[in-house]
Amino acid sequence: MTTPRKQALPPKHIPQRRCVSCGQQRPQRELVRIVRLPSGEVSVNVGRKKLPGRGAYLCYAPECWEKALKRDRLSYALKGPVSPEDRQRLQEFAQGQLQQAPTSTTMGPQ
Ligand SMILES: [Zn+2]
Repeated sequence: MTTPRKQALPPKHIPQRRCVSCGQQRPQRELVRIVRLPSGEVSVNVGRKKLPGRGAYLCYAPECWEKALKRDRLSYALKGPVSPEDRQRLQEFAQGQLQQAPTSTTMGPQ
């Protein structure tokens, strides 16, 4: 029997990113990256691979997505218009993804 060796990550600097909707800073892994690809298409950056292009980050909180899509914060953050199709795709992603997202981890005051 082989046990997969756990890779202990050294406690070094965790990159912090800011949600374009609520403005809260969080560790990058707690945010979803939205990226404007070089083709102009806006996509959700799922998986470990970092897609090329201008990125923006959003929390997993549904209200952040709602706000970002409604108030056009994303177009601002991505420095260009977000097409209705892109918007639709993001909304679908939000609906599918956010429902199964873990309940928000409440962290103590820093
Ligand atoms: Zn947020």
